[in-house]
This record gives sequence, structure tokens and C-alpha cells, in this order.
Amino acid sequence: MCQRIECPNCKGKGYETCYRCNGLGFYSYTNDDGEQAVEICVRCDGKGTIECTRCWGRGTIIDTF
Ligand SMILES: [Zn+2]
Ligand SMILES: [Zn+2]
Repeated sequence: MCQRIECPNCKGKGYETCYRCNGLGFYSYTNDDGEQAVEICVRCDGKGTIECTRCWGRGTIIDTF
């Protein structure tokens, strides 16, 4: 028996906040010259959100029991 339920990880949205940049889409860091630099987050490609790793962007999961 299985049924499709709303993904508890992303609450049905299909995406979640990027944990690497905290949803900013970029991060700032101090480079070797002591200057403040900004780099686009490679994990979310600058979007700030990533595909939910539990439902793979579908927003629902199949609950088996
Ligand atoms: Zn990111
Ligand atoms: Zn999800």
C-alpha cells in the first residue's frame, strides 16, 4: 500500500533553501589581498534555492507502509 503525500522536507514546494549560501545565491569572502569578494554559489547556481533532495523537485513523495 502506498500513497502520494506532500513532501515534508519542502512542504510541497519542490525546492528548499540552499544550505551552502543560506538562500542568498552567492557568498562573500575575503580574498588573499584582503578584499571583499563575491562569488556566485555553485550549489544553486545563484538562485538561492535547490531542488528538494527528498522529492527531487516534485513536491510529493510516495509514502509506503
Ligand atoms: Zn546556494
Ligand atoms: Zn520535497
